[in-house]
Amino acid sequence: MTNLSKPLRKILAQNFNIIWPEIREIKESSDGTVKFLLSLEDEKLIETVLIPEKDHYTLCLSSQVGCALACTFCSTGQMGFKRNMLSHEIAAQILVAQDYLARAATAQKKNTPGHLTNLVFMGMGEPLLNWKEVKKALQIINHPLGLNFSRRKITLSTVGIKGVLQEFGQSKLALLAVSLHAPTQELRQKIMPKAARWDLKELVSVLADYPLPRRERITIEYVLLGGVNDRPEHARQLVRLLSRVKCKINLIAYNPGPNSKYSAPEKKDILKFEQILWSKGMTAILRKSKGQDISAACGQLIINSTF
Ligand code: SF4
Repeated sequence: MTNLSKPLRKILAQNFNIIWPEIREIKESSDGTVKFLLSLEDEKLIETVLIPEKDHYTLCLSSQVGCALACTFCSTGQMGFKRNMLSHEIAAQILVAQDYLARAATAQKKNTPGHLTNLVFMGMGEPLLNWKEVKKALQIINHPLGLNFSRRKITLSTVGIKGVLQEFGQSKLALLAVSLHAPTQELRQKIMPKAARWDLKELVSVLADYPLPRRERITIEYVLLGGVNDRPEHARQLVRLLSRVKCKINLIAYNPGPNSKYSAPEKKDILKFEQILWSKGMTAILRKSKGQDISAACGQLIINSTF
């Protein structure tokens, strides 16, 4: 940048760097989902997933290399925790995806449903266990002079981390989704033992008082595991548990991987579960998890030799 003065160039060189993660591999699903394997500066690997919607793309971001929480249905949890991602590494996933889409548009690839407008922190890691860096990344992502994404298009998904969840709510940097996956403390302890260290009733009481702008709701994520948490009594318990929380429920049918200890729920059980929630006046949507053929669907992200 020789058009800048020498002193300014010196300041820039001393204080900033522009390092993008290196794309190690790209996998494309038959449904249009794209999974990137990215290498960070220290060669640690993460995955980022670009999901085509009707008229836009959503990017699923990672916030940690691996995850310490070891939820029993999640492949990332099996990796263990390697390290926290830094704010620029988190934000750079967006640059990689935008660059990929720009190149795809230039190459006139078909089936590109528009721009990348939505972001979800639902990739590898628990974002609120890396809140310091995730917060910085969100400020960069939100800022008009940064990546300029609207707050209303960014969702942070968490199992609920005591104290940090309230701080996140005050920051108003993104929408909140909570990975609940069980209607009782006992069952949650079995499915996600480390996350369940924060008692479910306490978590739900914080959600009931969570600061929400008008017309906004918390998203509750509930992965239906065949025969484990998909019974009609679980749906009824969930209704009672969430009676004071302003929320909508995303139901996700579990995708069993090769070494899964759980099975997929049966269609009739999914419909019954959904119907019970509706009959009690709750908003519940059955989410289709995309990218299953490239192991990019919910709970399937893991770094192993089969990428
Ligand atoms: S579901 Fe989320 S919090 Fe649980 S192990 Fe997987 S990445 Fe970690």
